[in-house]
Amino acid sequence: MAIRIQRLAGTPAKGLYSRPEPALGCSLCYAGVKAVVFVTGLCDDSCFYCPVSRDRLGHDVFYVNEERVDTVEDLVAEVQRIGAQGASITGGDPLIALDRTLEVITSLKDAMGPGFHIHLYTSGRYATIEALKALDRAGLDEIRFHPTVEGFEDRIRLAVLHTGMDVGVEIPIAPRMVEWAKKVILAAWRFGAKFVNLNEMEFVEPNTRGLLARGYRESRRRPFTVEGSYEAALEVLEWARENTSIPVHFCPASFKDSIQTRNRLRRAASLDKAWYEEETGEGTLEWVEAKCGEAVLQVPPGYCVEDCDSRIVEAYPTRKREPRIGEEPCT
Ligand code: SF4
Repeated sequence: MAIRIQRLAGTPAKGLYSRPEPALGCSLCYAGVKAVVFVTGLCDDSCFYCPVSRDRLGHDVFYVNEERVDTVEDLVAEVQRIGAQGASITGGDPLIALDRTLEVITSLKDAMGPGFHIHLYTSGRYATIEALKALDRAGLDEIRFHPTVEGFEDRIRLAVLHTGMDVGVEIPIAPRMVEWAKKVILAAWRFGAKFVNLNEMEFVEPNTRGLLARGYRESRRRPFTVEGSYEAALEVLEWARENTSIPVHFCPASFKDSIQTRNRLRRAASLDKAWYEEETGEGTLEWVEAKCGEAVLQVPPGYCVEDCDSRIVEAYPTRKREPRIGEEPCT
């Protein structure tokens, strides 16, 4: 195993590459400067590993990061509030809500400028040539297919031939998915895609039953991931390095969750903190909330208000500062 890793670029903690050429969308994600735009929960696929929470999946709801929004104007305002330098559009399948997706892309490009990098995930089920051209015209920079249907090769080919977008493929990886991953990589390479990303398969609440039913177990060494997913990724990276020239990248779950998300939250906390809020360094904000009769005062940590019910509050830097993740008496 050690010899294999030495022949790959990157590190096991941050990500490994068959060739050291990460997609631009990935580089911005690492830095935590991309907003995650969940454009609809509607999806006509039913992947057993689907990680989308069940209060989103199947519902036509609209979020920026953890923040629910109702309109595209609200979405742009939220992206500006957190100082994002790019966006990843996801779902569900954004192509089911194609008109909204196009409006999101054009509005973000208008408001944030042409350099604001946008990538989009789709199963490709509805990636007709018309839809792909419309996405390209709207200004989409990068499209990532998550193949769930037969004929996905043709979607890649159409996007490469008829648009100027960067075309990539992104799939989860776990034991018993190695041969499928190789097939997908070969198709991506042959039809001109720029990269393939492999995501370490994670146990999250929405997919736990589906994964257990297929015999997958949680890894002891790598909490919340599927046992053998990391090893399967190494096997596929090594194979891709030997047999293709397309860059293949493995994204470890721990890096995605702990580093990328924390960077994104830290950035939002630093840009949006009120005069009485302090950054904790972990992507949350802290302040003192004092209930004095009917009035509620907010003051910086360290300034407990005497004769009032004062509490130190810790919360994520969302607009409403919810969910609160800690609350304790201030003494
Ligand atoms: S295509 Fe994506 S959103 Fe739809 S079921 Fe599969 S993983 Fe979930």
